[in-house]
Amino acid sequence: MTNNVTKNVEKNAKKLVSGVKVIQLSVGGFDNNFTYIVVGENNSAIMIDPTGTKKVIEETIKNNKLNIVAQLVTHSHPDHCELVDYFEKKGIKLVEFDLKKSFEEKETILGGIKIKTILVPGHMSDSKCYIIENNIFTGDTLFVKGVGTTHYGGNDLELEKSLNYLTTLDPNLILWPGHNYGGASSTLRTALNNSFNKPSKKTQDKLKTKVKEYEKTKR
Ligand SMILES: [Zn+2]
Repeated sequence: MTNNVTKNVEKNAKKLVSGVKVIQLSVGGFDNNFTYIVVGENNSAIMIDPTGTKKVIEETIKNNKLNIVAQLVTHSHPDHCELVDYFEKKGIKLVEFDLKKSFEEKETILGGIKIKTILVPGHMSDSKCYIIENNIFTGDTLFVKGVGTTHYGGNDLELEKSLNYLTTLDPNLILWPGHNYGGASSTLRTALNNSFNKPSKKTQDKLKTKVKEYEKTKR
């Protein structure tokens, strides 16, 4: 499994991971963002963090004859939900979960795909992880190399607690992050081992400039 993942870290990699198929799309967006499509039986699928280049997503849906039944977002930062409205207008509903306490979880089945949603505040107060079979979608909580900044609606202590929580999960889960920071995918174990990589002052400053530029384009 790990070999498969490391071999296929190329953009737009498609992998068959147990029952569901995870399609990782390099959609550009704010900064090397990923949109995910998780395909279950009969081509019904869900989409996580619809953002970036529409064309990449729409062509994937068309070419694979997918029936996207729902959109999910890992957190409410605009670079993770840019295209939610667009796809809602096309009839794909956004499914949200009313989770209040840290690590509170909810199980749902959408399009035949069983999804466990866990609230993991820190990068952002509403950050969530989605676990589908042996895959975990971590948004900006945890990347292949490093963790997300807490400077935009987050909290360091909460993030620390959430990372500690992640260490209680199966370390062999395949991690699918919100951005390509240090890699497209790894095991949860590898990513947790890299999680001491807090964004440096230099990275924070670079990010600040990028956020400003990004906000300008959205106006
Ligand atoms: Zn974010």
